[in-house]
Amino acid sequence: MTVTRFAPSPTGYIHVGNLRTALFNHLIARKTGGTFVLRIDDTDPERSKEEYVDAIKQDLEWLGITWDKVERQSARLDRYEQAAQQLRELGRFYEAWETPTELDLKRKKLLNMGKPPVYDRAALALSDDEKTALRAERGDGVWRFKLDHERIAWTDGILGDVSIDASSVSDPVLIRADGQFLYTLASVCDDIDMGITHVVRGNDHVTNTATQIQMIKALGGTPPEFAHHSLLTGPQGEALSKRLGTLALRDLREAGVEPEALISLMARLGSSQPVELRMTMEEIAEGFDLNTFGSAPTKFDEQDLYPLTAKKLHELPFDQVADQVAALGVPADKAELFWKITRENITTRKDLAGWWDLFRDGADPLVAEEDKEFIEQAMNLLPDGPYDAETWGTWTKAVKEATGRKGKGLFMPLRKAVTGQERGPDMSDVMQILQVIRAKG
Ligand code: GLU
Repeated sequence: MTVTRFAPSPTGYIHVGNLRTALFNHLIARKTGGTFVLRIDDTDPERSKEEYVDAIKQDLEWLGITWDKVERQSARLDRYEQAAQQLRELGRFYEAWETPTELDLKRKKLLNMGKPPVYDRAALALSDDEKTALRAERGDGVWRFKLDHERIAWTDGILGDVSIDASSVSDPVLIRADGQFLYTLASVCDDIDMGITHVVRGNDHVTNTATQIQMIKALGGTPPEFAHHSLLTGPQGEALSKRLGTLALRDLREAGVEPEALISLMARLGSSQPVELRMTMEEIAEGFDLNTFGSAPTKFDEQDLYPLTAKKLHELPFDQVADQVAALGVPADKAELFWKITRENITTRKDLAGWWDLFRDGADPLVAEEDKEFIEQAMNLLPDGPYDAETWGTWTKAVKEATGRKGKGLFMPLRKAVTGQERGPDMSDVMQILQVIRAKG
């Protein structure tokens, strides 16, 4: 059975970049009737915050990304200690005491010589006496995983055949000097123990994958299928990393983006399939196929979310917005009509408030100099409200007869005078809901 996971660190809100990871793993599980695990990578006690755990859950729920199980790394520290011990016994784990400054110097030297800045394994050559001395002087060191210097190869679900020479990679640090387990080791233990069969994540993890494949094998596990999706860029191909702070899912929700719009875009962006609005996760899962995604950076333009949002709203039945319309103060007998006439004239639900303000308080008339007299004449022909479905027809007919105007020259100035706008809903509908016509004085 397929088991996938989304493994956020609760150190911030999820943004569009992590959403792709969450969504792809979710869709693979849903498509195959498998299990989707939400794994909270909270081994860093200082940066992990409970409020972010809650926020991550809320954001995923908003999008309909449901999970079958929650796991937390902070509850599994004993297991990571046991794995560390196993690696020590296997001779694959060693302690090292270089300070960050020393490491930096080593890196620079190698780069100056035109060599890749790979850790030189100096700590492996230390004698027991030297280790004791370093421990006395500097305290506990970091623990590094000793890579086997061979080519590590896998068939990636998006990148195809990948192979990385392990000797071009530094032995990864798995335990910090303060004893904190790093995600790399924790993740490997979890993927093994939780029976994870597929891991999709950003291609910034490709090197991690190579080292993790060796770790999984060393610990007696079977590596899952890996796939690395491209990272998002801005519309011009610019790095998105700096802007991700404003592209948190909650910011988009706040801006009025509908969840179906976001899911529909993210499930297809960067693939060879067209982006189309889909109203259910089932429909999205059905057409989802990792093979259709390319490895090139994927351009993301948040503006693309708005036409999809508007499209969803245009088709949304009244019962799904009834509460919101009532909350605006629209009288119950006008609520359905209000939705009928506004839904095709809004981009997000936030625009509803503006329409209700207009209907309730009336609009500042928009009257061109040459139409002043005409509007005055027309307003005299308009009886006092309330108005019904016939009002617009009867009124414009009377105005036409009295002024001789017709077509656009008749209707447009009236619309502008009544609604203050050049475009908008059908005027027969508008007349029924307008509480005040300011142009009438
Ligand atoms: N917590 C890791 C991250 O957010 C998870 C990476 C992974 O999917 O393995 O980068």
